[in-house]
Amino acid sequence: MKIIQKASPHFNDRTTPIDMIVIHATATQTLDETFSYLIHSQAPHRVSAHYVIDRDGTVYQLVDESKRAWHAGISRWGDREDINTYSIGIEFQCPTQSDGTLGNFTQDQIQSGLELCHDIQKRYHILPKNVVGHSDIAPNRKQDPGILFPWEIFVREGIASNPKRR
Ligand SMILES: [Zn+2]
Repeated sequence: MKIIQKASPHFNDRTTPIDMIVIHATATQTLDETFSYLIHSQAPHRVSAHYVIDRDGTVYQLVDESKRAWHAGISRWGDREDINTYSIGIEFQCPTQSDGTLGNFTQDQIQSGLELCHDIQKRYHILPKNVVGHSDIAPNRKQDPGILFPWEIFVREGIASNPKRR
């Protein structure tokens, strides 16, 4: 798995340990457009993620894992709020379709996503029930990673738990 460093200035310090992974889909048409939001946007629209996985499977790291990236926004999981504080955020490059819903994912990017999640999970001992989609932690605001995200593969690989039970 090839990881290209591409620093985003949009982060701050963490105060608590990492025990979650949040999966996103970019809803942008190109990687350049994604970087325009995650690296080059101006306050008050500054957002980021730790990783972006392009459609060819290339992984870009934008924020060091030890820092708190700004990917989740107002969010809740169980009895905790502000999920940015606890999580690593992974964006999958994904276009929106003509009807406005999120598109599909390529095999290459899913393969990289599995490798990256396995690696992160092993290093921080993250439980499958704490590997979630943005729409799980901000259900009234967010739809990503969308209905075409192949959660069943992540469940089969032991990374995530069954979305129906989330
Ligand atoms: Zn998102």
